[in-house]
Amino acid sequence: MTVDALAGAAYIVAALLFILSLAGLSRHESARSGVLFGISGMTIALLATIGLTVANAWTTGAFLGLGLLVVVIAVGAAIGLWRARVVEMTGMPELIALLHSFVGLAAVLVGWNGYLAHPEIPAELAGIHNAEVFIGIFIGGVTFTGSIVAYLKLSAKISSKPLMLPGKNVLNVLALVAFLVLTVWFVIDQQLGLLVAVTLLSFALGWHLVASIGGGDMPVVVSMLNSYSGWAAAAAGFLLNNDLLIVTGALVGSSGAYLSYVMCKAMNRSFLSVIAGGFGIVAQASSDAEDGEHREITAEGAAEMLTAAKSVVITPGYGMAVAHAQYPVADLVSRLRERGVDVRFGIHPVAGRLPGHMNVLLAEAKVPYDIVLSMEEVNDDLASTSVVLVIGANDTVNPAAAEDPGSPIAGMPVLRVWEAENVIVFKRSMAAGYAGVQNPLFFRDNAQMLFGDAKQKVEDIIAAL
Ligand code: NDP
Repeated sequence: MTVDALAGAAYIVAALLFILSLAGLSRHESARSGVLFGISGMTIALLATIGLTVANAWTTGAFLGLGLLVVVIAVGAAIGLWRARVVEMTGMPELIALLHSFVGLAAVLVGWNGYLAHPEIPAELAGIHNAEVFIGIFIGGVTFTGSIVAYLKLSAKISSKPLMLPGKNVLNVLALVAFLVLTVWFVIDQQLGLLVAVTLLSFALGWHLVASIGGGDMPVVVSMLNSYSGWAAAAAGFLLNNDLLIVTGALVGSSGAYLSYVMCKAMNRSFLSVIAGGFGIVAQASSDAEDGEHREITAEGAAEMLTAAKSVVITPGYGMAVAHAQYPVADLVSRLRERGVDVRFGIHPVAGRLPGHMNVLLAEAKVPYDIVLSMEEVNDDLASTSVVLVIGANDTVNPAAAEDPGSPIAGMPVLRVWEAENVIVFKRSMAAGYAGVQNPLFFRDNAQMLFGDAKQKVEDIIAAL
């Protein structure tokens, strides 16, 4: 059997392992095996690629490629290991956004290489090859700069507010039309200038698309860029004639697109409007009408209230991740359950900064899966709940989304915590959440603020219990 055939077989096995990995990752219970399938698939894919390069160097004497491969693997692995070790759970979203930008950049470089290396292509396939070069560069370029803007927004290096250029929708449509015209032109006449033009156009469009998207819609953007990075990888796969890259890219592209669709539905946003860079979204001033006096509660007061409660629902958010409060929260939950209190979690689909962020944290702290419920499962029970603990959540429990049509997050489904008998909000100040919107919950009669670091405050409650 030739090395090529062996590598081909290894690629098929790796592709199957990636499919099993996606299936495993769709449920808590099987997520660990999903990750193991993914690691195995990637190891096989890497070994097959290295094997191919070694065999190629052996037969042709071209050892430069082999040397380069060793160097890039060493550098990439070192940087990857270092970042993965030091990254905080709260920094994961921006790290992922940055990684997507690398996929985009790689696709741009592969596209340029496909032009500059002058591969020998049969005349009847030249048109297809040239279109692949152009489309690969375009998708890669949009992914590259879009991901950089997402990284800057998620790490709060730039404001999460949407950029509202005059005629922004027209600009996006013009960019797409220009891309189509340039593609046809390039297929007919392969001028270097056209390649430079499409590269710059894609960079500008990627930047503009993501910059136009406002705070509350960022979760969809993150999964959408995930999808774009998959299509960029698939485009690179066509150029490099690499089946595994095509299959893997298509898996990432389609699963990312589906996740974006699911998240749009969960947030009551139109999928098309979000992927078109906030098409049709007009920034509105929130009325900010409801504010006034807020009440405060101490940890001892909260402990007393919890002891007397029949049922408790905890709605965690980004602040729980920042404070690393999941461990004391898990401890508090088991103590309350020992006392016969019915305790459950209500998880908003976009709580935190990553799809599934809260589920990961709670699993890490070994909270039993059966008391971790989704927003839909818990929302109707909130009105009959004695106490809701809002731990570091803000936008996801904001009544303005349900009651103020002028709010930038209007229409986004939220956890209706204000319907409960009592609400205790854990946060450090009266500051707004990610979307920058005032939260009228804090001024409701049944709500009390417990100011301070969420971890410290939960520990204080445990001490008082
Ligand atoms: P928010 O980001 O709305 O609010 C988090 C709150 O936590 C803040 O108001 C902050 O208040 C508080 N907080 C921060 N640190 C601490 C701490 N150490 N102790 C106690 N409180 C703390 O959180 P949500 O989870 O409710 O909402 C998520 C938001 O992020 C949504 O707008 C969503 O669209 C967006 N988003 C979600 C993504 C996803 O995929 N899940 C991706 C990108 C964005 P204070 O400073 O006063 O303490």
